[in-house]
Amino acid sequence: MALPKLAPAQPAHDKLRALGIIALNGMFDEMDALGVLRYAASDVLPGDLAIVSSFGADSAVLLHLVAQVDPSLPVYFLETGKHFTETLDYVEALKKHLGLINVQAIYPNQADVERFDPAGTLWETDPDSCCHIRKTEPLEPITEQFGGWVTGRKRFQTVERGVLPHFELTSDDRIKVNPLAYFSDADVNRYKIEHGLPEHPLFAKGYKSIGCAPCTSVVAEGEDPRAGRWRGLNKKECGIHFDFNGAIASPMTAPATRHTLWKNGGFIADPFHAWAEGDEPTGASYKHVPLPVFLANREAILANPHPLGLLVAPGDRIEDVEADLHRFASVAIQFPGFTDGRGYSTARLLSQRYQYANEIRAIGDVLQDQIPLMRRCGINAFVVTHEPTRQALIENRLPEVNIFYQPVGTAEIPVGTRPFLRRVS
Ligand code: SF4
Repeated sequence: MALPKLAPAQPAHDKLRALGIIALNGMFDEMDALGVLRYAASDVLPGDLAIVSSFGADSAVLLHLVAQVDPSLPVYFLETGKHFTETLDYVEALKKHLGLINVQAIYPNQADVERFDPAGTLWETDPDSCCHIRKTEPLEPITEQFGGWVTGRKRFQTVERGVLPHFELTSDDRIKVNPLAYFSDADVNRYKIEHGLPEHPLFAKGYKSIGCAPCTSVVAEGEDPRAGRWRGLNKKECGIHFDFNGAIASPMTAPATRHTLWKNGGFIADPFHAWAEGDEPTGASYKHVPLPVFLANREAILANPHPLGLLVAPGDRIEDVEADLHRFASVAIQFPGFTDGRGYSTARLLSQRYQYANEIRAIGDVLQDQIPLMRRCGINAFVVTHEPTRQALIENRLPEVNIFYQPVGTAEIPVGTRPFLRRVS
């Protein structure tokens, strides 16, 4: 059968690609796993495909397929610092057995670990944040380099994965390939035996799905194989397989995504959530804490190990928290209306006087005409819900402002004889 070729991975936002994914899933419904992977590597994303493997109980099957297709395909292993030593030994054993020549470990950012998980117990109090720091964040720059990546996920593993297709289009316009989507538990075991694949040393001890040591437990006979992961917690995925709203990415739902955070030239998923009345200062995570709440609960919030931001409303004095700014991964400045300029002063204090180098975001009334002015003051992220402004950002249609009555920094050079009227160089 002659198979139609998908358009190359670029450019992004090509609706034809979504349609192509749907067609691919139809064509490959019956295709064996090796065929799916081979086609993905040679026709869909040649030279642009990576594999992410946990080197867990079933990983040998996918990696065996990879070795047959191309042993030099890049395979990334998330070295979270929390693995069983048996897993680390297994990485080396499988590499050697399968002849994989491009296995690379990815490590968490050490500064993040020291800052948010100094005792190494974040998995206990806030596993979502722990996975975010140790898995999602380190993986992001890697996946950004590729048009697609291969996972070993299977439909039978959880109810949530029950609709997993061979090909998914993610919200950031990448392709996830799941060659084993249709494998049953029995298929996995049969494959391992048929091909003489080495077993993870812990499999025989009752570990059926193996991730980080603190979050993995033995599974009883007849139990869901992933029941031993984050046992007792309402958590099923580590986050790297979430697309939006925790759902499995799907070609039918991907185009509907509407992120509101504009940063680094694109709309991206926002890791922060709004602070709600009743939120606990000691346990809050990925929230912007209102400045007065911070001042009233300073000790508790400084002891809180989770990532936090600071919310500055008009009338709040950023000077009052100068010494603690390093605690926050983001400062959100509220702009309640077009005529209220207090947020600009806050941003300038942060970026210029305090040299605050993390995210400074504008929230509230963020409109097209204001964004260039906000940028001048050091704001580097914008929460935008106003549809015409969203379109202007997407299409790079922001107004140019080159005459300033209050010059900022060194980029704005005076021209003419009137010292208060200055122009960008
Ligand atoms: S699986 Fe557990 S230890 Fe590993 S990163 Fe996630 S929460 Fe942390």
